[in-house]
Amino acid sequence: MSITQLPKEYNPQEVEPRWMGEWQDSMNYFDWDSNKPQYIIDTPPPYPTGNFHIGNALNWCYIDFVARYKRMRGYNVMFPQGWDCHGLPTEVKVEEIHNITKNQVPRAEFRRLCEELTAGNIEKMRNTMRRLAFSIDWSNEYITMKPEYYGKTQHSFVQMYHSGRIYQADHPVNWCPRCETAIAFAEVEYDARKTTLNYFHFGELDVATTRPELLAACVAVAVNPDDDRYNKYVGKEIEVPIFGHKVKVMSDSEVDPGFGTGVVMICTFGDKQDVRWWVELGLPLRKAIDKQGIMTSIAGKYEGMSLAGCKEAITKDMKDTGIIYEQETLDQNVGLCWRCKTAIEILSERQWFVKIDANDIISKSSKINWVPPYMEIRLKNWTGTMEWDWCISRQRIFATPIPVWYCNQCGEVMVAKEEWLPLDPNNSQPAGACKCGSTSFSPEEDVLDTWMDSSISALNVAGWLSRDDVRLPTQMRPQGHDIIRTWAFYTILRSSALTGLRPWDDIVINGMVLGEDGQKMSKSLGNIVMPEEAVKQYGSDAFRQWAAIGGSTGSDIVFSWKDVVAGNRFQQKLWSIVRFCMPHLEDFKPGGDVEYRTIDTWLLSKLNTLIKEATDSMDTYQFDETMKNIRGFAWETLADNYIELIKSRLYGEDVDARHAARQTLYFTVDALARMLAPFIPYFAEEVFSLLHRQSVHQSSWPDVDEAAIDLKAEASGEQVKEITATIRRFKSDKGMALNAPLGRLRVYGRIEDVTDIAGTVSADIEVMEGEPEFEYRVSGVKPRMSIIGPKFRDRAGHIIGALKSADPGSIAQQAAGGAVELEVKGETITLEPAAVEFEREILSEGHAVDVLEIGDVMVVVERG
Ligand SMILES: [Zn+2]
Ligand SMILES: [Zn+2]
Repeated sequence: MSITQLPKEYNPQEVEPRWMGEWQDSMNYFDWDSNKPQYIIDTPPPYPTGNFHIGNALNWCYIDFVARYKRMRGYNVMFPQGWDCHGLPTEVKVEEIHNITKNQVPRAEFRRLCEELTAGNIEKMRNTMRRLAFSIDWSNEYITMKPEYYGKTQHSFVQMYHSGRIYQADHPVNWCPRCETAIAFAEVEYDARKTTLNYFHFGELDVATTRPELLAACVAVAVNPDDDRYNKYVGKEIEVPIFGHKVKVMSDSEVDPGFGTGVVMICTFGDKQDVRWWVELGLPLRKAIDKQGIMTSIAGKYEGMSLAGCKEAITKDMKDTGIIYEQETLDQNVGLCWRCKTAIEILSERQWFVKIDANDIISKSSKINWVPPYMEIRLKNWTGTMEWDWCISRQRIFATPIPVWYCNQCGEVMVAKEEWLPLDPNNSQPAGACKCGSTSFSPEEDVLDTWMDSSISALNVAGWLSRDDVRLPTQMRPQGHDIIRTWAFYTILRSSALTGLRPWDDIVINGMVLGEDGQKMSKSLGNIVMPEEAVKQYGSDAFRQWAAIGGSTGSDIVFSWKDVVAGNRFQQKLWSIVRFCMPHLEDFKPGGDVEYRTIDTWLLSKLNTLIKEATDSMDTYQFDETMKNIRGFAWETLADNYIELIKSRLYGEDVDARHAARQTLYFTVDALARMLAPFIPYFAEEVFSLLHRQSVHQSSWPDVDEAAIDLKAEASGEQVKEITATIRRFKSDKGMALNAPLGRLRVYGRIEDVTDIAGTVSADIEVMEGEPEFEYRVSGVKPRMSIIGPKFRDRAGHIIGALKSADPGSIAQQAAGGAVELEVKGETITLEPAAVEFEREILSEGHAVDVLEIGDVMVVVERG
């Protein structure tokens, strides 16, 4: 583009799609053979919902800021993109779209429908990512539903099975009756609800419970060993009301004597505490609920009822028969399925588990740099609460198949050999016979928790199982704080279990995005903003500026249209600066002998300080700091001050002076484009393309010229800036046009260079030695009415007239002598000195002057 054609307005809707079309994917490819230092990012694989929401966008902006910055710093960067496809939400969506349940169509067909939906959603999200200018390495894309990825998940299963980290067991698990699957503790959400605490007679004792529907599953009652009320019952058997089976009264110090009656019933299973007692006290198992949440045969007449139906029916029966004698309302924290919000139950089922080694996780975590550091506490706290191992089997379809069969003859577990992978045991048979000689097998129908896929993301991008040189640890994991106890926790666990290594050097936690009203974004509040809306109105770069400046890394940030608008305004301002500069920079080649003026060295010092600070803040992920500093520099230092001060030089005759200004401008615009490239890649490219033939995104981050950082030069520049501003203010106070010539100016004080001051204020400036000599001359007399009025009444008017026409010098002389005498209408009037005051003017070298003081510099302006 010729610089003479630069449009007045910067139009992101024209510029952004143009560069998007120009850039090649290969610009962002990781080079496995490079000898530059590697910088591998363990990008989150989003769930392909089809909507790349604003929370994703914030996180990806952060990642892109880092990826682009590191590339410019000479790193071999991998910014891969994965898709975490498997899981319930897609199954639920498919069931909804096709109005089926997973069991109504063949397994393979159901999986196909899920894959189809997912592929379409991925494509939509890719488009948003491209428009937002994320410099993703598409040669390192992974899709967990594809065999090349889930095969790796299966390898990891087999390896951890053989190393004893994965085992199968009957153990209570959290169960969602709606989704009909086990879920991990990390997937349980808690919600405060009201419930009823029922007091009821239980043999000779009274018990309080919130779960009367579990009475059929009661296996014991327990009291606190120190509770004197009940000591005598410990060891006795009592009969369960309604159902009639006998249970033992046991003692356990975990029983709170202050809750309810101090007697609790232990059921299999009402909550996690029941599971603890069940294990510790060696109690039997009574399954009153099945996988769909329906009462089983041991519930007697309540068999076949839903949990809620049973609760209602049994409560009514117990009240009618007087078993329940009191009820009260109770606040309760109910565990819900993260996906469908159904209250979870605890069922004991044969499941697959991953052993959790809490100490190992904490020790690996301590070698990772957490940003911000306090986020590590969340991982530590969570790790400390781990009582159960990680249940990894799910009773669903759209997930990684567990590569296992069972021998139909002897029941032996046949785990697939690694060379058979990937496979689905539902569609294939083992390549060998069982130990017992049988070749008849049944497949494991359970599938793996999707976290089993995503927890090897770091391993996958580092080349695990696909390359000999596995690049672990990767350099950075960016993620939200809501998935520390899942994704971060599981990834550390799996990297350590499979390779003994930590997955990353750094983990950078981003906050959540809140609506403009400060509330969590939600459909019901109507405060959801999609990134596309902002892009449509202001372009991608303005949106990215909000992400950069909206808050510090790790904190929740409010989406703000104001910030997007401000981003757009900054681009317009910067564009007008560039537009002003370009005619002076076209074909400009920096170099040669340059004699910088004070204000040039001032700007270059500030520019290099900015580069230094921006480098530091980028290295510590403080994007808001970086962006604020760049904006402040461009807007105030460069536009409002420097450019105003050098205009006369740019258009002047002095070739050397002009060259110095052009070179300073060149360095500054060039460095700004480079520093802005990670944040506003389209804008930066547009500007950079005016100076260079190369893409800014294949150029380097500006180097700090330490020698240019000069506090003395900055102080001198500040002085020039201040003096100029004061003179301009003086002109405007006098009602003069800013470019009106000002005549002769003398400057007294320590100042080196007045060229730019002179040029800017249109004056001839002489720098003087020593101190100015001033004389003061009385130039006017002002009567004081408060004294003259009351004393002389009707003569006052004439007195004032006489004062004004008199020579001010002679009045002043008389006043100094003690009295002022005036001839008024033939009469001599005597005024006391206090009746007049004097205006004085300053004279210097015989001319009336104005004196401006700026610090220890004095500017003497001759009045024209
Ligand atoms: Zn559910
Ligand atoms: Zn067998």
